[in-house]
Amino acid sequence: MSHTEIPIDSPITRNSRPVPKKPAGKFHRARVWVTVMLMGLFLVTPFIKIGGHPFLMLNFIERKFIILGQIFWPQDTHLLIFLLLIFFVFVILFTVVFGRVWCGWACPQTLFMEMVFRKIEYLIEGNAAQQKRLKQQPWTNEKIIRKTAKHCIFILISLFVSNVVLAYVVSMDQLMAWYANPSVIPAGVFIFIFAFSSIFYLVFTVIREYACTVICPYGRLQGVLINKETIVVAYDKNRGEPRGKLSRDGNSGLGDCVDCTLCVQVCPTGIDIRNGTQLECVHCTACIDACDDVMLKIGKPKGLIRYDSLHGLSGGKKLRIDARIIAYSTVLALLVGAFLYLITSRKNTETTVVRATGQLYQELANGQISNLYNIQVVNKTYDTITVTLQLKDQNGLIIRPERLVIAGQSIAQDVMLIEIPAKDIKQMKTPIEIDVISNDKVIESVSTMFLAPVAKP
Ligand code: SF4
Ligand code: SF4
Repeated sequence: MSHTEIPIDSPITRNSRPVPKKPAGKFHRARVWVTVMLMGLFLVTPFIKIGGHPFLMLNFIERKFIILGQIFWPQDTHLLIFLLLIFFVFVILFTVVFGRVWCGWACPQTLFMEMVFRKIEYLIEGNAAQQKRLKQQPWTNEKIIRKTAKHCIFILISLFVSNVVLAYVVSMDQLMAWYANPSVIPAGVFIFIFAFSSIFYLVFTVIREYACTVICPYGRLQGVLINKETIVVAYDKNRGEPRGKLSRDGNSGLGDCVDCTLCVQVCPTGIDIRNGTQLECVHCTACIDACDDVMLKIGKPKGLIRYDSLHGLSGGKKLRIDARIIAYSTVLALLVGAFLYLITSRKNTETTVVRATGQLYQELANGQISNLYNIQVVNKTYDTITVTLQLKDQNGLIIRPERLVIAGQSIAQDVMLIEIPAKDIKQMKTPIEIDVISNDKVIESVSTMFLAPVAKP
């Protein structure tokens, strides 16, 4: 059951949203530093180059990806799938052990919402109480000015972020080239910027915490991933209950919770953590800071709300390595191992040979049989590669092409003619292998079939 103040299936109406109290405290300061670091990385990465090439480029349109300066082509899709799998298993493992640390500390949705948009709101519209008042008051000049200023800044941030994202897709050099000469900007770029910034703006002005509590599938997964060994943001019921307002007698007979509701007031998703672990909790730690502050003021030890496992809360060990953690770690290690093998054995070229349509073979007067193919060589490097082709362990000759010159990051295609003496052919379909040679080194071998009329006795 959801314990949130907002019914989870309620329509998204801005007036029904919680206006959280400004968070402050040790955890909040740590999150600010983490945000500065991650946002810095996000902004700086498109400028980083390795050997004159982007450090990271994710061109989904042309299906060309550059990761750590290495180009990945559609032919390398399996590697990208591996990377995604590693990322997902890592997040799952992390969730099983540390709950929603990702949501609170690293997810772009939380970082932009709580550390950028919410902070601008506090700056322009004031604290939670002032924001509530502003929301209720009629459209005075002050309200119009504050709201307009806020939304203008939100729109500018959305446009800026969409440009940064575009730099990840087309590279910073390309983006700069477009800005230097706007007349050559393709229409698709304007559509992308308009669509991305509109969605971004809507997410952080209208959808907000619903992205975490209703839309995000990762949030929905928590029920399956979290168990009593998982470290979560939790309220220590044993210590806090029975709760009661602070009284002169020092709350004798009561628990440490003075029912000040500050933990609820700071919660960006509007939940009461004292009702237990809930799907809506994004582990932002605001309630920990708020409660620690209260405990400090009333002279009680901090940590009534803290990072702990349910097992830890009931007096056991905080972190226990159970079978699930071992299983996920093993899968992760295997995936990383397989990925490292694939990446180190990855070739600089990718050659494909397919039979030309139409004629199966040709019997020549000189006793040779010829077959026609289409050959395609993808050069995955940044440099021009010249390759020659040679039959492996098979008498015969590759008549054409003599050589193929493939510019960096491009594909060369040609017609390939192979002739093999008829006397050397023993069957209708002979498997043959072709060596692709560059700088006197075999860089790749490809297999195909050579067709001949009938098997010769
Ligand atoms: S319950 Fe606490 S940690 Fe969870 S979202 Fe609310 S304030 Fe953040
Ligand atoms: S902030 Fe702490 S003391 Fe106040 S209501 Fe929440 S749990 Fe109780």
